[in-house]
Amino acid sequence: MGTKGRAIVGIDVDSLIEVLNKALADEWLAYYQYWVGAKVAKGPMRGAVTAELVQHATEELGHAELLANRILQLGGTPLLKPADWYEMTNCGYEAPDDPYVEVLLEQNIKGEQCAIEAYQELVELTKDTDPVTYEIALSILADEIEHEEDLQALAEDIQLMKERR
Ligand code: FE
Ligand code: FE
Ligand code: MG
Repeated sequence: MGTKGRAIVGIDVDSLIEVLNKALADEWLAYYQYWVGAKVAKGPMRGAVTAELVQHATEELGHAELLANRILQLGGTPLLKPADWYEMTNCGYEAPDDPYVEVLLEQNIKGEQCAIEAYQELVELTKDTDPVTYEIALSILADEIEHEEDLQALAEDIQLMKERR
């Protein structure tokens, strides 16, 4: 922990760490949902869908890295057990029980929309109080917005393909 770095934060640092750990739980669950979804996906445009899911998995892991590093800087401890992910998550986990691409896309779009709301809240919370966390939250928010759009574009293409057949 950096003591001065912690002291300049203008909100309660322990509650901020908790918010960051909740986001960390979301990122690990999102990572696994994408990773395993890419393994099991079936249906039209499987290759394109799988490539996008794999890319998003990697990016969610990158978000987890950013959050864990910030938690440590603030003197906190990143969640230590996978069981804590379910305990702390905002956005939950949707198992890809039905591996059809349209179902997977729908589940992941829902996850991204939840992530967008959660990071928008973190941006609001930190914008005048903690510029370092703010910058992290803003960059993750931009990625989640891109993720939603990527998935909706794929879902739209699948829909168009079905309509034009
Ligand atoms: Fe993410
Ligand atoms: Fe995402
Ligand atoms: Mg993408």
